[in-house]
Amino acid sequence: MATISIEWAGIQQFPPTTQQTLHELLGQLKEKNVRTLTILVMGKGGVGKSSTVNSILGERVATVSAFQSEARNPVIFSRTRLGFTLNIIDTPGIVEGGYVNEQALEIIKRFLLGKTIDILLYVDRLDAYRVDNLDRLVIKAITDTFGKAIWQRGLVVLTHAQMSPPDGLNCDDFVAKRSEALLKYVRMGAGIRKQDFLEHSIPVVLVENSGRCKTNDSGEKVLPNGTVWISKLMQIITEVVLNGGKSIIVDQKLIDGPNPNSRGKFYIPLIVAFQYFFVVKRIQREIKYDIAKESSPLWELRDMGLADGKF
Ligand code: GDP
Ligand code: MG
Repeated sequence: MATISIEWAGIQQFPPTTQQTLHELLGQLKEKNVRTLTILVMGKGGVGKSSTVNSILGERVATVSAFQSEARNPVIFSRTRLGFTLNIIDTPGIVEGGYVNEQALEIIKRFLLGKTIDILLYVDRLDAYRVDNLDRLVIKAITDTFGKAIWQRGLVVLTHAQMSPPDGLNCDDFVAKRSEALLKYVRMGAGIRKQDFLEHSIPVVLVENSGRCKTNDSGEKVLPNGTVWISKLMQIITEVVLNGGKSIIVDQKLIDGPNPNSRGKFYIPLIVAFQYFFVVKRIQREIKYDIAKESSPLWELRDMGLADGKF
């Protein structure tokens, strides 16, 4: 990967205990000959992708915006530390006006060409109460682009973890319900069979990017339940990398490749023809009928053979 790496200075921003954990994890990876880790961050707009990138790096490098004016292009941040290279790819949200923006997806694909993805972080907010068809479409778009196998290297990251759950639910119950709902959609969107999914469940990790995130006695950012989340996130990433699945090599074949999306393209001419004959024609006929009805008295229509709807 021809990316210029700079020294990971941000790691020194972390409290010593976090730094120690991160160094241990990098050590575990290096022991297994993993010397590069490329993390792809994807999800809808405004869910906290760029903020999460900054939190992991300990640097404010990715542009964060409270209003939906994200950069249109993906950005890769490369940092080296003790002979290890960490790449994080921040991407723009791929949803616009209720649909998956194919063009945005195309730009991401082209950007990734020639790169290897070791980990996918699928980011969403914890404090959302619904999972809907749009989530399924986004997940399906990711699956169609990179293949189902990407989910073996996938984590679901839920931001805004410091939220207060709705009345009547404690935090753990809320997190469990939200995770369950989202994972069900991941399973559906990724077209994974239930039993396969159970064998290989996708980890859900909570994140709190806010500057007002609580800290413990060592100054580490913690979730309401006391979990040091940056360490936890990096630990789970390390486990996923070391425990199986394959990194995704983004080559031309993968990009044009036979995916469920292009397989369906065969039917497009048929669908268009069907729509023409059964929808367009019918509408045309109805318009003609309306025009005829409006401008002609009934007797005239009867003479034309139209009034009894025989045409
Ligand atoms: P992106 O569009 O997915 O890259 O989202 P951004 O990282 O730009 O974040 C969108 C907004 O949400 C910004 O105002 C962030 O400050 C805010 N934000 C992101 N993550 C968190 C989080 O974990 N907690 C809180 N409270 N705000 C967050
Ligand atoms: Mg962003």
